Amino acid sequence: MSSPTERGSPPRPEQRRRHVPGPPFGSPRSSGELRASLTSIRDTFSNRHHSLDFAYSHAHYLRNRVLAVGVIFLLLTPLWALVDAMMLPRELWGTTLIGRGLLLAGLLGVLLLARASREHIGRIRLSAGFLLALPAAFYALVLILLPNGDASRLAGYAFIPFLLVAALSVFPFTILESLAAGLALLWLLAFAQMVDGSWLTPAGFEGLWLLTSLLVVSLAANHFQLSLLMRVYRQATHDPLTGLLNRGALSLHLEKLQAWRREEQSSGSLPPCAVLMMDIDHFKKINDTHGHSVGDLILAEFARVLLAQTRNDDCVARYGGEEFVILLLNTPGDRAAEVAERIRRAVEAHHFPDHNHLRVPVTASIGVASLQGDEAPEQALERADAALYGAKEAGRNRVMRADSPTPSALA
Ligand code: GH3
Ligand code: MG
Ligand code: MG
Repeated sequence: MSSPTERGSPPRPEQRRRHVPGPPFGSPRSSGELRASLTSIRDTFSNRHHSLDFAYSHAHYLRNRVLAVGVIFLLLTPLWALVDAMMLPRELWGTTLIGRGLLLAGLLGVLLLARASREHIGRIRLSAGFLLALPAAFYALVLILLPNGDASRLAGYAFIPFLLVAALSVFPFTILESLAAGLALLWLLAFAQMVDGSWLTPAGFEGLWLLTSLLVVSLAANHFQLSLLMRVYRQATHDPLTGLLNRGALSLHLEKLQAWRREEQSSGSLPPCAVLMMDIDHFKKINDTHGHSVGDLILAEFARVLLAQTRNDDCVARYGGEEFVILLLNTPGDRAAEVAERIRRAVEAHHFPDHNHLRVPVTASIGVASLQGDEAPEQALERADAALYGAKEAGRNRVMRADSPTPSALA
């Protein structure tokens, strides 16, 4: 879902890529694992396939790392100046001190930028980039400013590209981001070697090889770190049986939906949104007749029908048991009722199989409520629930609207 800071764009609960879960039974383990590994590498290679929700969680985690590593760099910089005073010839102190002063100011700026960027993904990424670029720029500056030949007397400075490549592994960067940073650092090392005269010498090759090896290790660390972050995010926000958003994630979406609508309202427009609350009819009987495992299979299949019948921007969640909620953005009440009716028909017509692939008849009742004025989405959800109760009372397998003065059935 969009941050409240992204004005003008609707909250997008599960946009760009929506996970459509496979059946819980029957898929061969090995091919499932292979597919999972390939998907995992695709997801850690770049952020192209990340949902906006995950992008915010990811950025939040990245920001914490930037703040922690930024403070470490900030403390190390003056301490390193003391090491300079002990190790470097007196005539080099001036140049390195100017560089360290600039580095200190830059690091302070990065920390302030990261602190002020809680909800800004782009700015958080920028601060992470600056954090790594600043020590590299400091090293390059010192190399440029020093008179020819003096560069070889810079004790410990040649370590900077290695330190930065190792630091890449601390951040949950995508492989592509780390690769770009790593190539820039290889270039920096090559430049340093040209300045100190070790370029194209055995010692120079050794340095480049070591840096490349370290980069590969950092890329692997990035992959594992980002995969773990994704798994934790998924477990915290998604229902394992259906792959839909869980109730906790739905609550967050409802809060963000309200914040977004309030913002839109203050700028003169109030986007129509609706809530559908649905419940599978006589599900207890399905469990009793076919067994709990078929019940689970039907819940997963039901989720697939919901995903197939909704847009990527709609938020589809498992509210609990055999109850589901859909948030329809930019959708007026009439349109929402049509969508609900389409879902009802699709469920009724769908082939839900038991373990013998025989059809289990499944129907659902749906309550529809469109958000009135600046009504809280939670309140609309309660009205949709009351309409759902009305649909059950009226005989099930039907859509009931909460918006009309007296709830009206569509089927
Ligand atoms: P109604 O038409 O009034 O909704 O009747 P119902 O039988 O669907 O309603 P009820 O709420 O009495 O039953 C819901 C059942 O859903 C009871 C519970 O055992 C079952 N259930 C809840 N969660 C799961 C689940 O994860 N898997 C399976 N197989 N069954 C579940
Ligand atoms: Mg039910
Ligand atoms: Mg129920």
